[in-house]
Amino acid sequence: MNFHIMTLFPEMVMNGLSTSIIGRAVNRGLLSVEAVNIRDYAFNKHGSVDDYPYGGGAGMLMQAEPVYQCYKALEEKIRSRKGQEETGGEKKPRVVYLSPQGRTFSQPMAEEFAKEDDLVLLCGHYEGIDERVLEEIVTDVVSAGDYVLTGGELPAMMVVDAVARLVPGVLHNDVSAEFESFQDHLLEYPQYSRPEVWHGKAVPPVLLSGHHANVERWRRRQSVIRTAENRPDLLEQAQLTQEEQELAADILRKTSCHFDADMVD
Ligand code: SAM
Repeated sequence: MNFHIMTLFPEMVMNGLSTSIIGRAVNRGLLSVEAVNIRDYAFNKHGSVDDYPYGGGAGMLMQAEPVYQCYKALEEKIRSRKGQEETGGEKKPRVVYLSPQGRTFSQPMAEEFAKEDDLVLLCGHYEGIDERVLEEIVTDVVSAGDYVLTGGELPAMMVVDAVARLVPGVLHNDVSAEFESFQDHLLEYPQYSRPEVWHGKAVPPVLLSGHHANVERWRRRQSVIRTAENRPDLLEQAQLTQEEQELAADILRKTSCHFDADMVD
C-alpha cells in the first residue's frame, strides 16, 4: 500500500514514520510512505503558499493553486505507475483531508482505508485551506478528535499508522491485529507478561492454567467489564449474551453516574 502525504512539513512526517514497525514495513517493501512538499508547487517567486482570507478574520489561509498542482502531480504519478502495472479504467485516488471538521477517525475507517492501493493525505496549516480546492479533490474529511491542532501532520501520521498495521505482513504476527480494542465493539482485555508477580501483584491464575477455553472466557468477561467501565457508549452495538448484558448493567450501575444503565438491558 502507498501513502502520499501532502504537507508543508515533510521532514516532520517522514521522521515520525520512519521508525519501528512502519519503518521496517517500508524497508521490507510492504508499504511506501512519501511526503510531498506543497511549497514546491508555489506559483510566486517568494515560494509563499498562504494569503489573507477574504472577508477578514484572523490568520492566513493555504491557497488553492499550490495544493491543486501538488495533487495533480501526485495523481499523475499514481496513474502512470498503475498504468504500468495494470490495464483498464483508473479511478481517482482517495484523498483524505485532515480537519477538525471531519468525521472522527475510527477503527472501521482504518479498515476501509486499508483496502486502497493508494491513499493521499492532505495536511492543512494556518487557518486551513481555500474551500474551492477541497471541493475539487477531497473524498473524505477526517478529524483526530474534538480539539484544534496547528496542522494536519500529526493526524495524518496517526491515520497512516492505524491503516498500515492492517496491511498483511506489517505486524510480525498477523493474529495480533485479530482481537484488539474495537473489535466486536469491545475494548481489549488486560494483558500480563513475566514475572508472575510484580510489586506484589500476581498474574490472574487462569492465564497460567493452560486451559484455553477458560482463558478465552476470562478474556471475554474482562473485555465486557472494561468496556462498561471506560467506554459504555460502545456497548450499544456490541453483541452480548444475556449473562454479559447483566454483567455490563451491573458495572454501569456501580460506576456510573452519567451513563444510562438501561442501555444494555
Ligand atoms: N480554522 C480551522 C477550523 O476552525 O476548522 C482550523 C485550522 S487548524 C488551526 C489548521 C489545520 O490543522 C487544519 O487545516 C487541519 O489540517 C489541521 N487540524 C487541526 N485540528 C485537527 C484535528 N482535530 N483533526 C485533524 N486535523 C486537524
